[in-house]
Amino acid sequence: MRFDIPQLTDGVQAGDRRALARAITLVESGRDDHRDMALALLAGLSTDRQALRIGLSGTPGVGKSTFIEGFGLMLTGLGLRVAVLAVDPSSARSGGSILGDKTRMEYLSRDPHAFIRPSPSQTHLGGVARRTRDAVRLCEAAGYDVVLIETVGVGQSETVVAQMADLFVLLLAPAGGDELQGVKRGIMEMADLILVNKADGDLKAQALRTCADYAGALRLLRRRPQDKDGFPLAMTISALDGKGLAQAWDHMTALADWRRETGVLAQVRADQARHWFKEDLRAEMLALLTRDPELAARLATLEDAVARGEMTPAVAARAALAPLRQP
Ligand code: GDP
Repeated sequence: MRFDIPQLTDGVQAGDRRALARAITLVESGRDDHRDMALALLAGLSTDRQALRIGLSGTPGVGKSTFIEGFGLMLTGLGLRVAVLAVDPSSARSGGSILGDKTRMEYLSRDPHAFIRPSPSQTHLGGVARRTRDAVRLCEAAGYDVVLIETVGVGQSETVVAQMADLFVLLLAPAGGDELQGVKRGIMEMADLILVNKADGDLKAQALRTCADYAGALRLLRRRPQDKDGFPLAMTISALDGKGLAQAWDHMTALADWRRETGVLAQVRADQARHWFKEDLRAEMLALLTRDPELAARLATLEDAVARGEMTPAVAARAALAPLRQP
């Protein structure tokens, strides 16, 4: 595949969806020469446009696709441009992306003001994280007002998404009281907004009880500097009926506006940038090391020694870098 970087840059900044899709393909590529082009592309983008980045997490079946479909269409109806990206850690196992299922978000995917991109298939979360961050930047430069970053609620991926989002939304299903424990405290602590979905029909009463339980649990958490009064909060919605979606959006914009006005948002984004700089530096250093054949061979030998239990990981890591330490 050939990429014309100046043309791609112009296309992305003109909001051309084909160019955006192509640019994301470029940043997702694992090839070294593609990476160089991707970095040139990213460096050439204007930073004037900023989207509201919303992280969204929930276990399979909780209603994420239904929510994104309804919520996304509501936002495009308000005149906003919406991009949906996915961080899908399970794609490593299945080889494909479960979040990339074509039948999901059927109407939104046909909306000219929406852009949906499934998760890249990648073997480890670190790679997916970097590619998703690049994709967020591209969507911003393409003029999207809201970027939804979706993830399946399975541990590590929430942390990754929270580290690249302005707001973190947790989607939950109605549950029995004892299931409250099922949501890990660490994930609760990341949430700005908990949406208890399926508050309709037979499930409504249960959803209201679940919501009250979570509201209580949130009150017990330590207040964070990024919390506006009344946040984090829990509310019920029905993604299927579209109930509560407008209120959820009102809460999100109220919180985002407050964070923008108080400087919290700038601070959060600065902290995130620092975090990702260090992550990227780590990845680049490792790539540099393995590019040198002699060092790569040394690394492989040490890795085997660690695997055989002949060396501890810490000692081997130090030994791996010994040649670089010499003056
Ligand atoms: P995902 O795996 O998190 O993306 O969940 P889906 O959006 O695919 O939804 C899983 C199932 O829950 C589907 O059968 C949906 O129709 C259903 N569902 C989603 N939202 C609601 C809702 O608000 N109320 C009810 N009753 N069912 C819902």
